[in-house]
Amino acid sequence: MVAPPFEIAGGAAGTGPLQADSGSGSPAPLPQRSPLEKKYGRPLAVKSGSRRLCRDLADRLPPHGQGFWESNMKIACLNMDRLVNVAIRPQGMPRADLGILYDLCAQDGPVSYKIAQDILKQPGAHVGIFTGAAVQDKMPKGESDGPLGAAAMGRAFQMLGYQVTMYTEIEGVQGLAEIGKLLGFEAPIVVLEKEIGQQTKDIAQALDIAVCTEKVGMNAKGVQHSVTGMNRNGMRAYVDPIIDDMNAMGKLTVGIGDGGNEIGFGNVYEAARELIVNGKTCACACNDGIVTVTKVTHLFPVAISNWGAYVVCAALAIATRRPELCVTPEEERAMLMASIELELMDGGTGLPRFAIDGVSGEASVGCVTMIKQIVDKTLETVERHF
Ligand SMILES: [Zn+2]
Repeated sequence: MVAPPFEIAGGAAGTGPLQADSGSGSPAPLPQRSPLEKKYGRPLAVKSGSRRLCRDLADRLPPHGQGFWESNMKIACLNMDRLVNVAIRPQGMPRADLGILYDLCAQDGPVSYKIAQDILKQPGAHVGIFTGAAVQDKMPKGESDGPLGAAAMGRAFQMLGYQVTMYTEIEGVQGLAEIGKLLGFEAPIVVLEKEIGQQTKDIAQALDIAVCTEKVGMNAKGVQHSVTGMNRNGMRAYVDPIIDDMNAMGKLTVGIGDGGNEIGFGNVYEAARELIVNGKTCACACNDGIVTVTKVTHLFPVAISNWGAYVVCAALAIATRRPELCVTPEEERAMLMASIELELMDGGTGLPRFAIDGVSGEASVGCVTMIKQIVDKTLETVERHF
């Protein structure tokens, strides 16, 4: 008898029971392992979580027939998710294994798979993409992590027939527009006001789906922080109330982040505070740490936010069998080169470099090559007769 396809549970990620489906028909909890798991009384699937999930998926992969395609896509998504959770950080930048937080979010299925499936359930919907991380005097036009992934997702959604609106602060408009042009993508860019007001309510009403990537959020004291624990209040818009309103209306919300200070980490708040450097304390007067309280339907913790955004495009490409939705290595190289001219800074050094979050541009092109290869091979069939 063929095992049932891997079921994706409904509800907000991180809010349901954290269990892995054992494939035997009834969900079985993962064994308790670490002191952290004991502390929180629930499995965090530390280190082995993704492998366990992958084995579960492989065990039930029927060689042919019903369920083969779904299983194949889930394995591809899981492997892409793991690829973009290979953390590379120079010394001097806060470092934490966000793969642990990823595992928490993936207990009921690979995160990119869940995001793609939920987006595809709403054909033609109005999708808003939020990004932008300018820092006065340091990165006045923002950084390369965020806009590149946002433009890539915008293009993919548009190619699938979605209505797309981009949202960023005034400082980020030019960079986002120019990166979009490079990808042959154009969409309205709405300038986010930096005070919470009527615009907040209007945006929440207008959108069906919100996707935040590298978009800072508020901690429990309402303070925005950099990954290094610096206070960022007044420099950025407050997107949190938009997402809260949309959540209350039952709309799909997605958060992609690599630091814990971005929208969505409220889904894994306690674990993130425990794991992340500056999780519980910060360099500002609030001293409550950088982890945000804002929840989303799907949180996608990754090593670099752009990589997570590219994987969302890739998951959609597999689901719709349209590899052209992916970013190509040539496009990634061109976008990173253009970022230097546009003063979209390398977030690791705050300098205009062929780099992203302190990682070399070559490595990022390599990551995109791997993602694209996973998509192409997942969609390809070979006949081996020996
Ligand atoms: Zn603070």
